[in-house]
Amino acid sequence: MSSMDIVSLVRCESYEYDEIRRALDESLSLIDGLSFLKPDMKVGIKANLVTGSAADRAITTHPVLLKRLCELLVQRGASVVIGDSPGGLFTPGFVQNVYKNCGLTELEKASGGSILLNQNFSVKEAEFKDAVSLKSFSYTGWLDDVDVIINFSKLKTHAMMGMSCAVKNMFGCVPGTTKTEYHMRFSEERAFANVMVDLNEYFKPVLYVVDAIDGMEGNGPTAGKKRHIGALLASKRPYYLDMVCADIIGMGMSDVQTLLVANERGLGPKAVDEAEIVGSLELKDIRIPDFKRATIHQSITFEGGGLFNSIKSAAVKLAYSTKPQVKEDECIGCKKCFETCPAKAITMVGAKGASRIIPSIDRSKCIKCFCCQEFCPVGAMKVHYNPLGKLLNSLQK
Ligand code: SF4
Ligand code: SF4
Repeated sequence: MSSMDIVSLVRCESYEYDEIRRALDESLSLIDGLSFLKPDMKVGIKANLVTGSAADRAITTHPVLLKRLCELLVQRGASVVIGDSPGGLFTPGFVQNVYKNCGLTELEKASGGSILLNQNFSVKEAEFKDAVSLKSFSYTGWLDDVDVIINFSKLKTHAMMGMSCAVKNMFGCVPGTTKTEYHMRFSEERAFANVMVDLNEYFKPVLYVVDAIDGMEGNGPTAGKKRHIGALLASKRPYYLDMVCADIIGMGMSDVQTLLVANERGLGPKAVDEAEIVGSLELKDIRIPDFKRATIHQSITFEGGGLFNSIKSAAVKLAYSTKPQVKEDECIGCKKCFETCPAKAITMVGAKGASRIIPSIDRSKCIKCFCCQEFCPVGAMKVHYNPLGKLLNSLQK
């Protein structure tokens, strides 16, 4: 392991500015996190702004954390721009609204010009010969305006990948609705996980910070429940960092697709004890073993080959199979799921005995990407678990 892979783990109990300042400053100094800075550098902060939601819902990177990071950068002579491509359109009108709802417009205004929100909505094309999935791809042009990228993610569960954290956060470098196209093109889980790893290896952020003060459990990354964790983490590379984050929420390599493929590619660890953790907080004091998952990947695996193990694995896969399912009484008929479904598996139909429309899913077309669940603004699209899987889980407790 190189010094690039050291992970800082620091206690941080709230989003109060003084607490954030103490924790973030400590976290970055432990790994010499700002050593990349040179005079007049332009730094792009790739935040998690997946949807326009209030900071206290634990969906997006908290503005107080972004404020402190920007202060540290500006004090050292850098200029800063914060950006992301949320779910939906990558257009000025759509993204300004997301900035506003995430509390960033106010942050920009209060900074007196030292913090800027990205206003470049161009789309660029890239070739990446070392990629596994993304040999050629589209990306958000603002990333070319900056000298270096800092990835500032949020620790959450994710229905398709198991966990959304540092590695997954780079998917927001893909513009707007092209994301749904890539879900379709790389619908197999490993291929999709390789998209995330490719993006990290192509853009190579110089620093990764994870907001794990309040995380999200259950139906993540947007419709789960906020859960207090109380930590801030940082590293110069994402894979050991994500392994530590996975361990905090009771997961391992086999539960997180991006960790699995990173390990296969020789980029990431197999287990958390391979990570060098520095900081005032010990992993054993922050672990939350009952953190609720959204994952379809469970840690039951059967080593070795043979027909019996194949049958057991197939049975486990079936037991743990999941699908999106609308909760009709919570649906507001906004059509967001219909618009974002990459497989065109959703049609809007009249609700039984009511004069409103709700989504209907064609199971033969559904690729189980869970975009519909991710982008439903009211959490009405749920992850439906096979009852047998639920039963097996309860027996394991
Ligand atoms: S219905 Fe939902 S999970 Fe299925 S393909 Fe469409 S967006 Fe993905
Ligand atoms: S996105 Fe959610 S609220 Fe909107 S139509 Fe789909 S299920 Fe209903």
